[in-house]
Amino acid sequence: MATYKSPVRDMEFVLNEIINVDSLTQIEKFEDATSDIVSGVLEEAAKQIDGTIGVLNESGDAQGATLSNGEVTTPDGFKEAYAAYAQSGWIGLDKDIEYDGQGLPYALATAVTDMLSGANAAFSLYPGLSNGAYEALKAHGTQEQKDMYMSHLSLGDWSGTMCLTEPGAGSDLGQVRSKATPQDDGSYLIEGSKIFITAGEHDLTDNILHLVLARAPGAPEGIRGISMFIVPKYMVNDDGSLGDRNTIVCPSIEEKMGIHGSCTCVLNFNDAKGYLVGELNKGIQNMFVMMNAARLMVGLQGLGVAERATQNAINYAKERKQGRPLTRKAESSFDSDTIIVHPDVRRMLLTMKALTEGCRMMAYDTAKHVDLSENHLDDAVRAVSKARVDLMTPICKAFITDVGVEVTGLGVQVYGGHGYIKENGMEQNLRDSKIFCIYEGTNGIQAMDLIGRKLSMNDGRLPKDFFADVLAEIESTGSELSFIADPLESALSALGKTTDWLMESKISNPNDSAAAAVDYLQMFGLVTLGYYWLRAAKVAAANEGVFYQGKLATAKFFATKLLPRVHGLAPVVMAGSDCVMEPSEDLII
Ligand SMILES: Cc1cc2nc3c(=O)[nH]c(=O)nc-3n(C[C@H](O)[C@H](O)[C@H](O)COP(=O)(O)OP(=O)(O)OC[C@H]3O[C@@H](n4cnc5c(N)ncnc54)[C@H](O)[C@@H]3O)c2cc1C
Repeated sequence: MATYKSPVRDMEFVLNEIINVDSLTQIEKFEDATSDIVSGVLEEAAKQIDGTIGVLNESGDAQGATLSNGEVTTPDGFKEAYAAYAQSGWIGLDKDIEYDGQGLPYALATAVTDMLSGANAAFSLYPGLSNGAYEALKAHGTQEQKDMYMSHLSLGDWSGTMCLTEPGAGSDLGQVRSKATPQDDGSYLIEGSKIFITAGEHDLTDNILHLVLARAPGAPEGIRGISMFIVPKYMVNDDGSLGDRNTIVCPSIEEKMGIHGSCTCVLNFNDAKGYLVGELNKGIQNMFVMMNAARLMVGLQGLGVAERATQNAINYAKERKQGRPLTRKAESSFDSDTIIVHPDVRRMLLTMKALTEGCRMMAYDTAKHVDLSENHLDDAVRAVSKARVDLMTPICKAFITDVGVEVTGLGVQVYGGHGYIKENGMEQNLRDSKIFCIYEGTNGIQAMDLIGRKLSMNDGRLPKDFFADVLAEIESTGSELSFIADPLESALSALGKTTDWLMESKISNPNDSAAAAVDYLQMFGLVTLGYYWLRAAKVAAANEGVFYQGKLATAKFFATKLLPRVHGLAPVVMAGSDCVMEPSEDLII
């Protein structure tokens, strides 16, 4: 059976020694977020999450969510664990104090989400979707809507959903057909069917707030005609009490490859009463607020399962005895050694560690930029951080979730046949991880966002400013760390050249850049991890002890064995799209 222990030491390392989260205490709102508080929060969260939620991971997978008469029942233990999690204030950790949150940095909440995803990815989706709903209301809701709903989302007695997808509208939300008909009292009647709605119906909270994309009469075609509505499962009376049940029906839930404990619902809105959020026909822009928060969260889901797989693989490799080291083959004894002696097993374990711990640094630093972009008093600081969040959001979503699949796949491989069977829990990690590459915009769509929007935003400053930061980090490195600084410089140069090529090809032949987008995002992710591993190596070199020696060893492995992938990808990116686009559809058989 797989186990999970929140990696508190590594989280402290990233928060306190890499991203210096206590620098946020300069912002009045975060003055309590000292490193002591950070450590205390991590310890407490780990105790509760590992002890009450992590233990439900495999039983939740085996039992799954079930539907009966339109009501969804979550797996045994989820209800009690959710209630305890909400009551302890973890959902509201980074929410505003005026809405019953604790007002702590998002970077710290990011670490808690990382834990929750590693402990139980399916469970993590129930509080996870509420975050997006909270952010959307905060940014676009009326004061009345904020007062009515936000505290409940923060306290977790109500939850949120994102209702975008329809049978004909997946990646292309311009195809949304759900209708919103205005009523005399200012409300709308929502008619339409949504599919694949996470936590669309469940038994964990008293009410569910659906944020729904629909079209009002006369709206323009495509994405410019879509509006966002809040549609509660139970109507809310003026005094805040719950009223009648709205006309929303859940006729079925999906059987899935993984995350069985999370229900994925069809929801029929049968003239359900809803209220406009934000301006009419601005639903997609408004939903982007939610989607950006959700995309970072999905990256953390990939990170969590990667951590879970890595911990178990390392433990297993130190116990499982098979074969002998190549250097001892000639010895007469037939005793087997533990498999961690084998170079290929070590390659797998170090790949898992280097990718997982690297992604943790990238994700938490991006989260810190979210905090700065929203709360710093200086406009210039806010703008710089906002640009970094814009650049890194598709990379955090797509690169980390691809890492999730790679690392959980390696986790199965380290166990051999014992990883492929259910009993050891390693195959669940792999099954759970695949969806993270798909929802909240597929990883292909994220790559298109990176090359299509992010590279050219602010006159192309986003990548240029990031590359300048990486170069400055390299230039301030002493020769003792040249084992990582030199390969990083060469990888950065390759990324710079492919970025220039992409910017030109986008104009001359858009298919060239589109065909290269996923490979380019991989390159970008690897260089970004190289940047963080260099920063980690600097901290490690200045400290003593096994933990820091381990960091240096992993940094060296990353620089030697993983970062050079960039040089294989560069010519692939710049190969153009002829071999992709020339074959007629008849030839792809
Ligand atoms: C378990 C689960 C939970 C989900 N939860 C939610 C939820 O809570 N709310 C919600 O609204 N939705 C949810 N979804 C839906 C999810 O967001 C969509 O499945 C996803 O956006 C992809 O849409 P699609 O499945 O229709 O695939 P399609 O859009 O049909 O895409 C199929 C393939 O084509 C590619 N593709 C499509 N368009 C382009 C393009 N322009 N350029 C390049 N490639 C392209 C895609 O990358 C993909 O590989 C969930 C789905 C699942 C399976």
